[in-house]
Amino acid sequence: MTKSFLFICTLLSLNQIKADGDYHYYVDLTSVKNDKLTIKLTPPDLTDNETIFMFPAMVPGTYDVYDFGRFISNFKVEGKDGKTITVEILDKNSYKLSPANAIKEISYDVEDTWDTEIKEKIVFEPGGTNIEEGKNFSLNTHGFFGYFKNKLETNFILEVTKPQGFYASTSLTDLKNGEAKDVLTVFNYHNLVDSPIMYSKPDTTSIQIGKSQILISVYSPNKIVTSNFIARNLKELLLAQADYLGGELPIDKYAFLFYFADKASLSGASGALEHSYSSFYFLPEADTADLAQEIRDVSAHEFFHIVTPLSIHSKEIGEFDFNNPIMSKHLWLYEGLTEYAAHHMQVKSGLIEYDTFFNVLVNKMQNARENYNDTVPFTIMSKYALDKYKKEYTNVYEKGALIGMCLDVMLRYYSAGKYGTQDLMKDLAKQYGKTKSFNDDDLFNDIEKLTYKEIRNFLDNHVAGSKPLPYKDIFTMVGLNYIDKKIEEKITLGGISVGYNPKTNHLVVVNTSKLDGFGKKLKFKEEDEILTFNNRKLTLDNMKEILGGFIQTAKVGDKLVIEVLRLDKKGKEGIKTLKAKVKLVKVTETDIIDIDSNATEQQLLARKMWLGIN
Ligand SMILES: [Zn+2]
Repeated sequence: MTKSFLFICTLLSLNQIKADGDYHYYVDLTSVKNDKLTIKLTPPDLTDNETIFMFPAMVPGTYDVYDFGRFISNFKVEGKDGKTITVEILDKNSYKLSPANAIKEISYDVEDTWDTEIKEKIVFEPGGTNIEEGKNFSLNTHGFFGYFKNKLETNFILEVTKPQGFYASTSLTDLKNGEAKDVLTVFNYHNLVDSPIMYSKPDTTSIQIGKSQILISVYSPNKIVTSNFIARNLKELLLAQADYLGGELPIDKYAFLFYFADKASLSGASGALEHSYSSFYFLPEADTADLAQEIRDVSAHEFFHIVTPLSIHSKEIGEFDFNNPIMSKHLWLYEGLTEYAAHHMQVKSGLIEYDTFFNVLVNKMQNARENYNDTVPFTIMSKYALDKYKKEYTNVYEKGALIGMCLDVMLRYYSAGKYGTQDLMKDLAKQYGKTKSFNDDDLFNDIEKLTYKEIRNFLDNHVAGSKPLPYKDIFTMVGLNYIDKKIEEKITLGGISVGYNPKTNHLVVVNTSKLDGFGKKLKFKEEDEILTFNNRKLTLDNMKEILGGFIQTAKVGDKLVIEVLRLDKKGKEGIKTLKAKVKLVKVTETDIIDIDSNATEQQLLARKMWLGIN
């Protein structure tokens, strides 16, 4: 920004020539070639004859092995005084170099993961890298910068040359901003990986929550989403989060980095990745009411990771090995309790109604049951989530969160409302903390000491054991009725799923896989565009009134006539009339939760303290 700053830069550039204890990395964002960036490194002092230079196989929070070395090419090593350095490729991520003490400079090209040609093992975008010349550079630092084996605990200094008007959004605080060049310093490799940096033309908003300063940075290619919109959306949420965490946010500074994509992602997914002082989001660029709630849900989740695993974790995570990652047994804690808290906080603070919260729980119950293997003990699934149980991993967001819900309810019940999972988290964070890891095998003992024997039994049977979660018993503790399955005879719309075609303004049958007896009589087909329903034109605006009205007032034997637009075998469009007499259909409903009006004092108290409702 100022001339004095440029002077500091010059000094740093001079220093690079002399090797010292630090890594000096150089990146020029103004010279993208073939969608690649060239990275140069002047290494720290290396005294051994031989060294291994590595890129991470995996990084914390992703629970997937990505081998970031796959995206590196043109790897070159220059020796001091023209000396030759021997380079031996050990595996996808590692290079053996000798003599190490004669290395002057390493250079290599990095291709970004977001639009790579390497189609196997696609990197989940929030943990990947983006090189979009002149527009956006998403530096998830582990994808660009490597390390020497056993030499992670030393300064990393990044000199980044940037396009005019570009701004570095990051939680890193040792950052010298220049007009054309920034210098960032991080004190070790773990913290470098923990600190993504997003470069783009700035759209940032800063908000203050108590003593915490929060940066919101947005890249939205078509300017559909703004940092201002997100800041307004998140402020209320962060205030509720502070309240939930006991009055204050446990950080001085935090950065939310948002990339909004205007095309589908390579992985097909969207989402976010957490870090200690920031989180990185990859979300679709859309202007919808749903997006606001999605941003809240995802942000609440990532932000709650400040509690776990960032402040409560086992050795596998605390002493994370980037190239030989070992999994912990306790994903139910790191991901499950985080996901639970993200939703529970919203109902407790009144941001959502309790029936919305129940819907979230019911969806998770159904997903966990229909899409995952419920007989694998959760601790075992977690331990082998990188290999044997890879397909079960995402159940941490479903059953994992439900384990959190069960624990919270039980704690409220046995403590006469006084103690819940957030109190337990606080006690565990006091006992362990950011720099002190627990032993995987000690966690249940430590939780038992802080709580009740019943909690220990629950953990043994339903988390380490293969017994299904005891929903009925759990909901009874807080005066709620729970019915696992109910079969009723009902009037239905045939069991179709309906979507909307904005081009024709028609409702469309999108799924007929669950057609019931009535739907089969009507002979719905997928892609039928519904024109009229009992002679009334059907639109998005009147669908609730017309379809809801039919369900409520139709009687067995009434006639239903539906006109649809359908393509025939030759692809020609024509109107078809579907007709059937209304009949009752057996419908199975699962996971029904409602308020028990005969709840006892103890149940009422536990419910009030759990959800804030009477
Ligand atoms: Zn998470």
